[in-house]
Amino acid sequence: MKFNPEKYAIKDKPMTPFIDKDEIWDFINNAKPTKERVNEIIAKSLSKKRLNLEEVAVLVNTTDKDQIEDIKNGARTLKENVYGNRIVLFAPLYVGNYCINNCKYCGFKASNKKAKRKTLTKDELIENVKALEEHGQKRLILVYGEHTKYSPEFIADSVKTVYNVKKDNGEIRRVNINAAPLDIEGFKIVKEAGIGTYQVFQETYNPDAYKEFHQSGKKADYNYRLTSLDRAQEAGLDDVGIGALFGLYDWRFEVMSLVRHTNHLEACYNVGPHTISFPRLQDASEYDIDTKHDVSDDNFAKLVAILRLAVPYTGLILTAREPEKIRKEVLQYGCSQIDAGTKLEIGAYAENPEVDQNLNKEQFLINDTRTMAEVIDELLDDGYLPSFCTACYRLGRTGEHFMEFSVPGFIKRYCTPNAMLTLSEYLVDYASKETAEKGWKVIEKNLNKLKDQKHIMEVKNRIERIKNGERDLYF
Ligand code: SAM
Ligand code: SF4
Repeated sequence: MKFNPEKYAIKDKPMTPFIDKDEIWDFINNAKPTKERVNEIIAKSLSKKRLNLEEVAVLVNTTDKDQIEDIKNGARTLKENVYGNRIVLFAPLYVGNYCINNCKYCGFKASNKKAKRKTLTKDELIENVKALEEHGQKRLILVYGEHTKYSPEFIADSVKTVYNVKKDNGEIRRVNINAAPLDIEGFKIVKEAGIGTYQVFQETYNPDAYKEFHQSGKKADYNYRLTSLDRAQEAGLDDVGIGALFGLYDWRFEVMSLVRHTNHLEACYNVGPHTISFPRLQDASEYDIDTKHDVSDDNFAKLVAILRLAVPYTGLILTAREPEKIRKEVLQYGCSQIDAGTKLEIGAYAENPEVDQNLNKEQFLINDTRTMAEVIDELLDDGYLPSFCTACYRLGRTGEHFMEFSVPGFIKRYCTPNAMLTLSEYLVDYASKETAEKGWKVIEKNLNKLKDQKHIMEVKNRIERIKNGERDLYF
């Protein structure tokens, strides 16, 4: 089959479904990995070019141990060259779990009579945000079930409430959203409230599997969901996140489709997704899912490395669904954002911290139950630079990852210094003595890596200002 990588620029139309399952299977069925071909593809990615579907198909078909190692090493190198050692931290905050849908895998499905339904009141939302700020969080993702209660106006109102909560030196500087797809008017309303990224996961891109898992409710409409982020773009919301729920269908098909979704958005709107998420199915209340498409830890690590190589400029989000050990491994392959201190029960951040999260598996279980402080401690031990940076979005530098990627020196000039400044705030305001000691050493080490003396002095000067009480300084 002769593949023309440019063809999507000609074929794709805004607001029009774009997944052709036979075409994707053709690519997978025809791809023949050889060491030489795999290395050629890795080299293309390392020269900062996005891979086309034919190339991604070769990578997903790789089974040879050495070739898989080459893929992982390629992803590691790309991450180091492009993103450096920053890891951005955030927390999810579940606002309400009423839901009209019946996604078979989700504990919030309408048919689950065991699920306790709740929507945070304004006061409860404020209390939870305060509790998150007390741990040093600066970036949240608000999560909602699908229900008439969660109208665009309601979502916009909760976003505004969150931005207004200030506890001591704490504040939330970026609010992202994970909620049901909206119409164009709805996306305009939430954009107005100043959101960061709007995420909608397709769950599975295979229309037949999709039908099986979503038999009733609004979410049963595959195409409405598939084109949701086109509607966001039409509404002027260009900061969007895509994702697939791994375990519903063949992981190779989902990886290919995530890349296909990326080139659809590029072809129609000239901007790819801001982030890609790759949650793996977890056990949940009233959960009864066939295990035939379960993704093993090895395949999970492989697919993360492939996504890194396939779409070098997009942020990759890894969540606490994964256990600590897996998180540690796949961070190396290029995840740029992780959640920390995560609690999924509605209202749990402001409640008794002794409550065992896993006793109540309403939506799904999480496997990394460490506190934010513990996660930061480990990131520092492993040589990462934890970051709470929100500068680009607040300065209107949208397409931030694209800039990181394509503007020479952008990371050294902006991202690394901003990571150091936001980490400094954390160390002064929230860290234990031991973590602070480690953190200042990591900052010192990263400062020394900046070559330009004038720039180093500028960053040092701002760190001193933070130590003296100023906040929210950025480049
Ligand atoms: N209700 C909105 C929707 O479905 O798009 C947004 C919230 S939903 C709670 C967020 C995501 O959680 C879903 O898109 C799905 O990928 C993920 N999810 C649901 N059940 C899960 C499970 N059992 N294991 C892992 N992730 C799950
Ligand atoms: Fe509702 Fe979302 Fe859960 Fe589906 S995944 S049941 S839409 S909360």
